[in-house]
Amino acid sequence: MLPKKIILLRFAIAIMVLFSFDLSAQKWLRNFNLFTIEDDKAIGLQVSKEIESNPAKFPILPEKGNEEVYKYVHGLTNKLLQSGKVAHAKDFAWQVKIIKDDKTLNAFAVPGGYLYVYTGLIKFLDSEDQLAGVMGHEIAHAALRHSTKQMTKLYGLDAIRQLVTGRKDAKMVEQMALSLASMKFSRKHEAEADDHSVHYLCGSNLNAAGAAGFFKKIKGKGGTPPAFLSTHPDPGNRVKDIEYKAQELNCRGDDSNRAAYDKIKKLLK
Ligand SMILES: [Zn+2]
Repeated sequence: MLPKKIILLRFAIAIMVLFSFDLSAQKWLRNFNLFTIEDDKAIGLQVSKEIESNPAKFPILPEKGNEEVYKYVHGLTNKLLQSGKVAHAKDFAWQVKIIKDDKTLNAFAVPGGYLYVYTGLIKFLDSEDQLAGVMGHEIAHAALRHSTKQMTKLYGLDAIRQLVTGRKDAKMVEQMALSLASMKFSRKHEAEADDHSVHYLCGSNLNAAGAAGFFKKIKGKGGTPPAFLSTHPDPGNRVKDIEYKAQELNCRGDDSNRAAYDKIKKLLK
């Protein structure tokens, strides 16, 4: 028989091993992603096609006749992408479409860098740094592959494989397109996207805490918060966190370019 001390020691070691496994398992689960980078691109392409062929649900503002608005939004997106801080800046699609729906205060990203922003959000915001902040937030969701991490949890491998291998299940692609447009991320992923938005903008001429402007505005309003707010009950905390991050990174830019932004808003009327 083993002396009592050794038994106790072994027991203690077993507990420590269990604990450290538990911690790393949690971290692993949070970042667990069954998809490859190529999957993100393939899913994004399919889902973006689905979105763009469903004008009842996603009425895309045509580029023809709205060249100036698109040029502006593309310019902002490129400013973020060219910061040198965005993962997959070179290999994701980074396509931006505007959805003509003045009632929806939202923007969303599909895997592989397909970004969608509603006219309702553009009209709701006051300045360029605010829109850049929200675009940065959405770019981060795609670049950090939050959607496919979330889809791994929601759908599981079998369903996903059908999509990726092209065994087309139209109903499912449609369902995924819809779920991606209103996907609820964890608080962790939301905070991560907020942080990255500041990071991407830091070093540019714009106020890097632009995304905070959106939360400040929405806080003053009642009504239903958009999907990307609903996992986080207090926009006030997000404002504080975003502003803190900009201070911490010592971001110097303070432009908000209201006049240029107003001009774009007027073009949407
Ligand atoms: Zn988000």
